[in-house]
Amino acid sequence: GGLNLLEDTIAAISTPLGEGGIGIVRLSGPAAFDIAKKIFRSKKKEWSAAEGHRLVYGHILDPAGQIVDEVLLGYMKAPHTYTREDIIEINCHGGIVPSKKILELVLSAGARLARPGEFSLRAFLNGRIDLAQAESIIDIIRARTETGLKLAVAQLNGSLSRKILELQDRLLGLLAQVEANIDFPEDDLEAATGQELLRTVGELLEQVEDLIRGAQAGKIYREGIRTIIIGRPNVGKSSLLNALLRENRAIVSDIPGTTRDIIEEMINIGGIPLKIIDTAGLHETENIIEKIGMEKTREMINRADLVLVVLDAGRELVAADLDIIGSVRDKKAVFLVNKDDLAEKKISVEELDVLAAGRPVLWVSAKEETGLDELEEKIFEMVMGGHLSGTDDALVTNTRHKQALEAAQRHLTDAVAELKKKVPVDVAAIDIRAAWEALGEITGNTVTEDLLDRIFADFCIGK
Ligand code: GDP
Ligand code: ZN
Repeated sequence: GGLNLLEDTIAAISTPLGEGGIGIVRLSGPAAFDIAKKIFRSKKKEWSAAEGHRLVYGHILDPAGQIVDEVLLGYMKAPHTYTREDIIEINCHGGIVPSKKILELVLSAGARLARPGEFSLRAFLNGRIDLAQAESIIDIIRARTETGLKLAVAQLNGSLSRKILELQDRLLGLLAQVEANIDFPEDDLEAATGQELLRTVGELLEQVEDLIRGAQAGKIYREGIRTIIIGRPNVGKSSLLNALLRENRAIVSDIPGTTRDIIEEMINIGGIPLKIIDTAGLHETENIIEKIGMEKTREMINRADLVLVVLDAGRELVAADLDIIGSVRDKKAVFLVNKDDLAEKKISVEELDVLAAGRPVLWVSAKEETGLDELEEKIFEMVMGGHLSGTDDALVTNTRHKQALEAAQRHLTDAVAELKKKVPVDVAAIDIRAAWEALGEITGNTVTEDLLDRIFADFCIGK
């Protein structure tokens, strides 16, 4: 737990470590100004924290009085700050050494090293943002496409929170009605209340279900589609991947603290990040199936959301192709007959259509870059088919939020069933209350300390 730690002043380097224009060491908490005073000297007059939001030029000095760096010190008085606490931001020269040295000085002057996400946790605990907004900060940092970023920013602005709060409000209204009913138990009133509850609960259930449906698309925008390219050696897997990357390479942000054992290439298909799993063999003209073994390949295929099966238009289908096709029998797959530019085709359209079993077959050429637009359209259609593809501002992108919505959905469904059976309204109220609580986990108004710890542990330090 760590909810009682708001008396501490926390500090961290808020910019990514490494070469950069500037580095920022950020402090938040009641002692932020006093700590800064101990290590900062302004050239001009004595600076005073009472003045509020200011930027001052000066130097950071070590205990021996030696200049460590020349800096711009920003100070912001509570409560009009990100954390609603006093904040000091020391803008120093970029690079690891100055910011690390300044962080050390700040820590020895009385600050405590911030845990991952602790600045955002404080903003949440101090009521500046709600939980869904805090979580969107991770998504903003990690967004891989413009659409993903747009959704995360909308969430930070509270678009999802507003919807959830509205639902919660209406559920509370129902509970108040039930309360009133308990005080005046008359059969007629009870029946009328039951009818009205049934109507409203049904309506709210629909809204919750809308949000859940949107979550399928939201999750895709946020987390991307795991895609694997398979095919015999020399069919043109690498060439195709490169052709796709040339036009559509997505923004890849390095996420501090994550290790990546397999390299993923990110492609942006209509705002959807496609994570192409680039196994060790993928770039070599070797069959990845031979190289890493059938079992491992099966596992990768199983975990993929989408499989691109590549075949060579200039070669007849052989047993190895059929094996590969067989291994994706139950998967979402696109069959790509590459080298469509070759004059002589050795693959029969009819035979392949049978093997594809209703899934799309596209003739493409990595060399001449033909058929790739159709491929992108197909992928978008397959991935978004059935889900709403518009980017509603309040799209649920977070699995945790989706689970909370599903819990609310279960309770509301139960409530509807009970009300239909005309049980006493205070029995149905138990489920209505449970739904209200489940929704509160999204915005954080009914959240447990344990859950908070888990959510904020996912942040990077300095955020
Ligand atoms: P991989 O082993 O499946 O990754 O295949 P590569 O991408 O390494 O390509 C194998 C060979 O096929 C190379 O010589 C490529 O130049 C050639 N190739 C790839 N795509 C095409 C294409 O669309 N048309 C033609 N004619 N050759 C291609
Ligand atoms: Zn290759």
